[in-house]
Amino acid sequence: MPTNSATIRRYEEVRERVAEAAVKGGTDPERVILVAVTKNASISQVRELIEHGHVDFGESRMQHFIQFEAQVADFLERHRELGGRGGTIPEEVRWHFIGHLQRNKVRKILSLTTLIHSVDSLRLAEEIQSCPGREEGKKTQVLIQVNTASERGKHGIAPPATSHLIDQIADLPDIRVRGLMCMAPNIEDPEALRPIFVRTRELFNEIAESGAAGSQFNILSMGMSGDFELALECGANVVRIGSAIFGTSSEESGEPVPAGDLLSS
Ligand SMILES: *Cc1c(COP(=O)(O)O)cnc(C)c1O
Repeated sequence: MPTNSATIRRYEEVRERVAEAAVKGGTDPERVILVAVTKNASISQVRELIEHGHVDFGESRMQHFIQFEAQVADFLERHRELGGRGGTIPEEVRWHFIGHLQRNKVRKILSLTTLIHSVDSLRLAEEIQSCPGREEGKKTQVLIQVNTASERGKHGIAPPATSHLIDQIADLPDIRVRGLMCMAPNIEDPEALRPIFVRTRELFNEIAESGAAGSQFNILSMGMSGDFELALECGANVVRIGSAIFGTSSEESGEPVPAGDLLSS
């Protein structure tokens, strides 16, 4: 199978960088989950990645999530009907919901998601708990989004309130808190983000060691295109990467490439 499309090349490069940084962070690269974030991707890029064997996809916008999930489900269905030729295509893909989740929209995505990364209030957790349609005996897997940088106007719970929220959610029988998610501020110098990732890691360790969230509290989701290596060095085991794989939307929309770029390669 040819693997020379721009998307696959970027994907393979990202995977190498993820593996190297995971080792630096003391994490087995095999155990790191790379979530490919589709918000600036086209459906054909998503299919290309699936054909290449990729399993984990993340989306932050409700409409896009619903649309892509359905298109991918169709694609996999057609592929199964054709007898599953093409070797690397996974049986199922896993969808991660990574954006702010409005309570009145929970119902729409619950049965479609493997992991919700963005629970940040008891009210939202209660809404998830009260949703019907969960498979018998199956819990909804969630992460608690922490606003470690205390950015105003940003989603996520304040770090000191996190363990209390987890204690409260422990009373909801159909929700399992699997770990923490953190979105670092968008600043140029990734080194400036180190204290934020370290602090999130410390909070994660404290909660894991307290046993308050049970033995399956083992996911630390942090790191995006601009900062994933640092996040992995600081102990992340799930990274959410969009533009470094799919390009930015302007690149993909076929805007003219500056002449200098054409000549330099
Ligand atoms: C968009 C988004 C990402 C990926 O961002 P990139 O910079 O494109 O890698 C990761 N996490 C969340 C929550 C996002 O909304």
